[in-house]
Amino acid sequence: MFKPTVLTALFLGLVLAPAGAQTAASPTPRSELGELTAFLSIPNVASDKPDIARNAARLKTMFEQRGFHMTVVQTPGSPVLIGELVPPGKPSRTITFYFHYDGQPVTPSEWKDSGPFQPIYRDKPLEQGGRVVSLPASGAIDPEWRLYARSAADDKGPIVAFLSAIDEARATGHPLTSTLRVLMEGDEEAGSPSLPTVVREQAAQIRSDLIVLVDGPQHPSGRPTFVFGARGIMSAELTVFGARHDLHSGNYGNWAPNPAFELARLLTSMKDPTGRVTIAGFYKDVVPLTAEEKKALAEIPDVDPRLMHAFGFAQQEFPGQRLEALHNLPTLNVSGLGAGTVTGQGRTVIPAQAVARLDLRFVKNITPDAQFARLEAHIRAQGFHLITGDAPTDQERATYPLLAKLRRIGGYPAGRTPLTSPMAERAVAAVAAALHTTPVRMPTLGGSTPFYLFSDVLKAPTVGMPVVNFDDNQHGPNENLRVGNFFNAIHIMQAIVTMR
Ligand SMILES: [Zn+2]
Repeated sequence: MFKPTVLTALFLGLVLAPAGAQTAASPTPRSELGELTAFLSIPNVASDKPDIARNAARLKTMFEQRGFHMTVVQTPGSPVLIGELVPPGKPSRTITFYFHYDGQPVTPSEWKDSGPFQPIYRDKPLEQGGRVVSLPASGAIDPEWRLYARSAADDKGPIVAFLSAIDEARATGHPLTSTLRVLMEGDEEAGSPSLPTVVREQAAQIRSDLIVLVDGPQHPSGRPTFVFGARGIMSAELTVFGARHDLHSGNYGNWAPNPAFELARLLTSMKDPTGRVTIAGFYKDVVPLTAEEKKALAEIPDVDPRLMHAFGFAQQEFPGQRLEALHNLPTLNVSGLGAGTVTGQGRTVIPAQAVARLDLRFVKNITPDAQFARLEAHIRAQGFHLITGDAPTDQERATYPLLAKLRRIGGYPAGRTPLTSPMAERAVAAVAAALHTTPVRMPTLGGSTPFYLFSDVLKAPTVGMPVVNFDDNQHGPNENLRVGNFFNAIHIMQAIVTMR
């Protein structure tokens, strides 16, 4: 059985320190970290069904130990867990927390010093020469230490922080002021294929006065972060066709059309040198930011210069506007390009086709269908005939000088909650008071999550509340959770589960 503690008084005594906090009662932050490392030791790649089942069973037990009533919803993929904890006094106000328990696929050989499911600690990030260390038996733990394992940050660490926040509130005599609900999926890294169905079918168990999505990294400033929306996303594959097969570049150079050049011309026609997408109507449906949203953006610490230095480039694509402001515009991205052979000795051919992988992100009020139609119309306006089959027919080859295929892949819209939503404002204020700082309020997350399912389908006030360090190597090898972020996450969640 898990033993609640007043761990964090030791780690950040200034933050907690409610009257009667029992700092003398053998604070052992190790028990929270111990529960986390045990959980991280269960491999959790979504395609691995037996291990996913073990994760779901472990989670069910962890939540039942705290008094949650748990329901396991079977899906064609991983089980979804839904739970409810009704505290004494049966508060009518409800808050739902969303987490995911699956992790990105791993290549164990890329992990340093230990496998992805054998958690280890380092005294600082690997990239800064961090050494492998073991937890001291007693005394404070350096907040700069990192816990390395798949899902340490994304998203198992936050789950254990949430449970620890409940333990901590109980141990320090702070009543839980809301009925708490959880929704946990095991297919997030596989694109959440079952989530839309589960959210619609279990709407009554999930809809709440506030839905808090806990996933992803905090703002790089390290401040507590609230996100009031997320972009939608769609991918597309764009293929431009030349001759029926590759041709010798000497025998046919200057004569046969080259689809690599045609594709390059087509792509450059989609964006001007200032980063603005030139597809007609691309920004037409964007809703201007409200005064409150502009104020929230202005309050966010400017991390552009630091990030540009870290990433190693001299100028933003869209100069003159900062990162968090640009998150409120739709994007058009080329994420992959291919034609002919580019590695090894190469081959001197005119390739038969060239392919680009695109992704488009949406902001509130832009529908995936409308944006895809604009992209199609733009390609046609550049003189291309878009084929509908897998490959051009003989007749299409004989008729059209420019042939392309555009295949749409997936797609869901953006979601957003007003910054002035009273429940969201209350949560922000509770965290600000508990952590003694001004939280970052981002109108829109740059990345895409199925935020719209909660904000628009369930029509519930929804916020994203990322709690982990931004430099967590999320999705890559050597994923890590900064120990200080884990303890802060406990404080942040405790502030919400005990807020007035
Ligand atoms: Zn995640």
